[in-house]
Amino acid sequence: ATSRVSSAMMTNWGGSGKVPLGLKRKGLRVLVTGGAGFVGSHLVDRLIARGDSVIVVDNFFTGRKENVVHHFGNPRFEMIRHDVVEPLLVEVDQIYHLACPASPVHYKFNPVKTIKTNVVGTLNMLGLAKRIGARFLLTSTSEVYGDPLQHPQVETYWGNVNPIGVRSCYDEGKRVAETLTMDYHRGAGVEVRIARIFNTYGPRMCIDDGRVVSNFVAQALRKEPMTVYGDGKQTRSFQFVSDLVEGLMRLMEGEHVGPFNLGNPGEFTMLELAEVVKETIDPNARIEFRPNTEDDPHKRKPDITRAKELLGWEPKVSLRKGLPLMVTDFRQRIFGDHIEEAA
Ligand code: NAD
Ligand code: UDP
Ligand code: UDP
Repeated sequence: ATSRVSSAMMTNWGGSGKVPLGLKRKGLRVLVTGGAGFVGSHLVDRLIARGDSVIVVDNFFTGRKENVVHHFGNPRFEMIRHDVVEPLLVEVDQIYHLACPASPVHYKFNPVKTIKTNVVGTLNMLGLAKRIGARFLLTSTSEVYGDPLQHPQVETYWGNVNPIGVRSCYDEGKRVAETLTMDYHRGAGVEVRIARIFNTYGPRMCIDDGRVVSNFVAQALRKEPMTVYGDGKQTRSFQFVSDLVEGLMRLMEGEHVGPFNLGNPGEFTMLELAEVVKETIDPNARIEFRPNTEDDPHKRKPDITRAKELLGWEPKVSLRKGLPLMVTDFRQRIFGDHIEEAA
């Protein structure tokens, strides 16, 4: 099944995936799919800082070279433009599988492609993990709980997902990705880890990706009204990206398969979020109500007892602490060009 990959892409040490004696290196070799994206690029920073050799695989659908350009020229960093829907041959010790658009605007843009990325893409990365004996971590999502009937959500909850809705390509795609991950674990003995990530924000988010935190921040900075969908009483829990990356690395290094909820249990309505953005950016910022999108979950808040107990992890950065860090980055990216043009 891998015949479509040219032999030039292969750096095979000889089948088993184990590095031959004498070639053993200090750091690990880590593949990060989706590593040019928002979360992936922060993960890459931490792995490189730790001394690992990192291969990023990304098709740049929502990722940007700018997110990882500071590693170009580092011999421990390699970037491959590749779509995970196609087979891939590399040799690594660990695979962090993040490749998949995360914002509803992006994943609804081409829903069939989103499904293929989640199903065929995850299958390929699991096939790769099996062949080379690498440990595999899936970044799943709180969306597997759908519009939850249990609150807060615990990992044992099976969810309430519409199989034929406009969000299904993502929700059901990730559910299949989890299933595949467990089937490769049970059937082929692949070492796997599953994270269920709740809404995450921070520097390097796409400015116009349509998610609520990036929308409100960009709108307040541009002196546009913040667009609140529906009545604004729906809730989400917002996690700062450094907390997530810490959780992902602990999960990968730990002994437990999961799934683990990784999120910040602080719960906010969209109106409350708008208030925090207002306090942080502009006390005169206004809000404007818009019709809500289809199938929008009413509430979402992680129960993180399992991650606390088994990974010794919990988020450290509150929304009021994390938001200013994102605002600094957005301000630079939104107004930076104008300053240059004026100069
Ligand atoms: P992102 O869109 O910034 O990053 C996704 C990356 O994957 C991008 O660089 C994109 O170009 C790449 N990609 C997409 N399809 C690909 C394909 N077929 N082949 C190769 N590369 C591809 O999103 P993110 O917020 O960094 O999310 C990363 C992961 O975390 C995703 O799997 C997402 O589902 C999951 N997640 C994120 C959140 C969140 O709030 N950010 C919440 C839950 C789950
Ligand atoms: N695969 C890959 N790289 C590898 C090994 C496998 O991309 O190094 C892909 C392969 O193309 C296949 C998928 O992973 O589509 C599943 O592989 P597996 O060996 O589990 O199943 P099979 O090839 O028998 O369908
Ligand atoms: N939302 C909003 N205004 C926006 C964008 C989103 O009020 O400009 C709402 C959206 O309806 C949802 C919540 O914010 O209830 C979170 O949406 P997002 O797209 O950020 O992530 P989701 O958790 O739905 O994947």
